Amino acid sequence: GFTDEPISVPDYLETEHIVDAFNQLLGRMKVINDSRQEFVSNVSHELKTPMTSIKVLADSLNQQPDVPVELYQEFMQDITEEIERENKIINDLLSLVKMDKTEGSMDISAVDINELLETTLKRLRPIARKRDIEVVLESLRPVTAEVDEVKISQIFTNLVENAIKYNKEHGWVKVLLDADHQFFTVEVSDSGIGIPEEDYEHIYERFYRVDKSHSREIGGTGLGLAITRNAILLHRGSIKVSSVEGQGTTFTVKIPLSYIK
Ligand code: ADP
Repeated sequence: GFTDEPISVPDYLETEHIVDAFNQLLGRMKVINDSRQEFVSNVSHELKTPMTSIKVLADSLNQQPDVPVELYQEFMQDITEEIERENKIINDLLSLVKMDKTEGSMDISAVDINELLETTLKRLRPIARKRDIEVVLESLRPVTAEVDEVKISQIFTNLVENAIKYNKEHGWVKVLLDADHQFFTVEVSDSGIGIPEEDYEHIYERFYRVDKSHSREIGGTGLGLAITRNAILLHRGSIKVSSVEGQGTTFTVKIPLSYIK
């Protein structure tokens, strides 16, 4: 795996030490290169999947001389959904790449966090309502923080969207905002399907899904938590998860009130 520990170089350098340090460096470059290749191959695969479906649907319409109107409409609907999916993947990839461009991309201002959470929840409630999921916000105090508003909004959106997506019918999502003199914390809890403990360390990886077919079915790209984690790290914050399978999940995000460069 990747490590950023300093490469060990002894005080008295001898040829074999230099060769050794060089080999360690080469090993690390290989890890970086391999993970880049894996990413590119994942991207290609994810982008190809909707394209393949679109082609199959369009071909089968073209091959039938007299397509009944209902069938035509059904296929067109499916094609539209696949295009939307492709669009979502591309947008998520762009977000991720933008955030990889590090600190320079931070646009810091004083943001009213209570208000930002309220706006986020207002936007997502209609989606939750479709499955009779209740979304509540509990703000323990007013919080203003020096953050990048767009990125923080993306964090809230991704976590609450997931809490709705991986929930059960008639379930609930609870968002709790608190702060001390240094940090604000946002806790997003849900009554959903939960995450197995062995997956905790992987869910932030790009394209990782606990259940690939379920995630795809509900419109997931596997990029949401990678984007979320990047945005949090750019703010020098942290994220942790705890979950009980079949009962629900809690994500806790902790972010400094003032931006540390
Ligand atoms: P996706 O687009 O698939 O939702 P994410 O990166 O947002 O991708 O999440 C990665 C995976 O983590 C999801 O596919 C899902 O398996 C799991 N996951 C994320 N949030 C939750 C949650 N609140 N409850 C259960 N599983 C979750």
